[in-house]
Amino acid sequence: MTKEKRELARRQDKAPIATAWDYAPAPEARDIVKVQERYGLFIGGKFVEPESGERYTTIDPAHEEPLSEIAQAGKADVDRAVRAARDAFANGWSGLRPSERAKYLFRIARLLQERSREFAVLESLNGGKPIRESRDVDVPLAAAHFFYYAGWADKLEYAFPNRTPRPIGVAGQIIPWNFPLLMLAWKIAPALAAGNTVVLKPAETTPLSALLFCDVLRQAELPPGVVNIITGDGRTGAELVSHPDVDKIAFTGSTEVGKAIQRTLAGTGKRLTLELGGKAANIVFDDAPLDQAVEGIINGIYFNQGHVCCAGSRLLVQESIYETVVAKLKRRMATLRVGDPLDKNTDVGAINSKQQLEKISALVQSGVDEGAEIYQPPCKLPERGYWFVPTVFTNVAQSYRIAQEEIFGPVLSVLTFRTPDEAIEKANNTPYGLSAGVWTEKGSRILAMAQKLRAGVVWANTYNRFDPASPFGGYKESGFGREGGRHGLEPYVVLDDA
Ligand code: NDP
Repeated sequence: MTKEKRELARRQDKAPIATAWDYAPAPEARDIVKVQERYGLFIGGKFVEPESGERYTTIDPAHEEPLSEIAQAGKADVDRAVRAARDAFANGWSGLRPSERAKYLFRIARLLQERSREFAVLESLNGGKPIRESRDVDVPLAAAHFFYYAGWADKLEYAFPNRTPRPIGVAGQIIPWNFPLLMLAWKIAPALAAGNTVVLKPAETTPLSALLFCDVLRQAELPPGVVNIITGDGRTGAELVSHPDVDKIAFTGSTEVGKAIQRTLAGTGKRLTLELGGKAANIVFDDAPLDQAVEGIINGIYFNQGHVCCAGSRLLVQESIYETVVAKLKRRMATLRVGDPLDKNTDVGAINSKQQLEKISALVQSGVDEGAEIYQPPCKLPERGYWFVPTVFTNVAQSYRIAQEEIFGPVLSVLTFRTPDEAIEKANNTPYGLSAGVWTEKGSRILAMAQKLRAGVVWANTYNRFDPASPFGGYKESGFGREGGRHGLEPYVVLDDA
């Protein structure tokens, strides 16, 4: 083991925090939500046993403890779900008065709000994210998406003036593990508003909030088959993609799987939207409000343990303020509390899976090996579970893997620039193009930068802000198609001339 590797291993071994101010634990009640011992597949409005006969265990990544037995949908199950969706599409949902469709969406939104505490706890339990985030971001935004698209359901002709929008048919939707409930809402709400029916596959590691959502659908009395939820791993996703009776695929996940899906669908005429990875630049100019910028940098990379496709994982700092920004950043990092996701004091929760922890560790090791300088604040981690100390790399060259690849963990790479043009060139030097951040007090500079940054979303003097009315999506290898806003309806309608 090299000296650097030993140092890395030691730091991850966490020295005790030297702090005068201890926080008393403030745990959210875990028993607010009931997790069943096992779940079936939600098809045609009810839970059914998987014909595959296969199951797997979903766990709590903070304690490595089993939570429930989940069905692994096979080919026959996928077919059954697609048939249920087709049946619901043909026999009612697509012909329903749009204002009636809206009522169901409003009901779902209200039920999500009423049951928000249950969803927040479950999301943190199964995914590892801090309860503060699931309570204050994931669940409210998921409800907001249903409210927002409920409003569009009977106004589609205004969304597409002089055209006659019709639903497409059955949408197959595949979502990742970083925002399970929110991604479900991003996918299902516009699809239903436009009159389509849905078969949705949550990620293998985080199926529980989608399964609880089935209960909301039953409470809302959504007609059977309009939304079907099938659990399983990537094989289930692949079956859904290649099913001949699915009209549209919406996928959020890795660029690698996105490309495979695109290959499968080439020439089939099926619609496709892809929301893939990112390697966003968060650019700080020397006239930026630095303390505010440091908060934005922290939020940009350590929110949700960095499991965020639009995470600000490359920090570009103007050279003249480099030392100051890095010093402030390290000081702020030392105050982050890593630990129990259900503790309301926690800032950084558990890494979602062992596999993801291994990926992050390998990429961080590559940063050390390639010559970057690593900093990790002193941090005491729980003994069990999957954890990674918030990390920042300085002395990073653009060619290093940590500056090129999506780490999808709490790891920031800091680079410098001298002029706005250099910042643009470095920011755009990536195969991705999902998001970017600009910190400066000059409005004109914000506009000039935003025009030149090849990123679907550019935040100015803030980061990771979402609103259902605002479209989100990427350029280049970050995918195509937009979710959110009026743009988010477009992938779910066929537009005839009026
Ligand atoms: P994947 O792209 O594999 O997972 C996304 C979804 O696709 C999951 O539901 C997954 O199922 C499903 N899936 C997997 N293989 C196929 C397939 N062949 N056909 C159809 N669907 C499939 O991401 P991972 O979970 O494996 O994460 C790997 C890396 O991807 C991460 O380290 C991160 O860098 C990146 N990522 C990016 C995301 C983003 O939003 N940009 C989100 C998630 C990951 P299952 O969960 O069962 O594998």
